[in-house]
Amino acid sequence: MQFVLNHYWFKKNEFETDKRFREERKEDLAKERSKKILCKYCKNHITNMDDAILVEDKHTHTFSNPAGYIYTINCYQSAPGCLVAGESTDEFSWFKGYDWQLAFCNSCHEHLGWLFTNGQQFYALISDRLSQDV
Ligand SMILES: [Zn+2]
Repeated sequence: MQFVLNHYWFKKNEFETDKRFREERKEDLAKERSKKILCKYCKNHITNMDDAILVEDKHTHTFSNPAGYIYTINCYQSAPGCLVAGESTDEFSWFKGYDWQLAFCNSCHEHLGWLFTNGQQFYALISDRLSQDV
């Protein structure tokens, strides 16, 4: 099965059909897009709002793991501040057809999320372990 990774920002603009409103929002969006996403623990620069993407039509997903732990994750096209480790596996994968590996902060080594791969790849990062640079 093939999933299309839509660009979050493209989709966001698409909904704003009122031209005047779109113009007014342009500056706000540009500001929002340029924001950095940081590791909550050590403030390491992990990724950017500009790398936000939609996977299966959503940027934010909520899943539970086999132990019943609930995670709210956000999807990003890339995360240069992450260190990917461990064997790649499709066991209990949240995204059908994708393998996953653990993704850690490359500075403090906290577990921040997962890298999903299936020819194409994206990062799913745990929202409450990240903060936005304002
Ligand atoms: Zn960190």
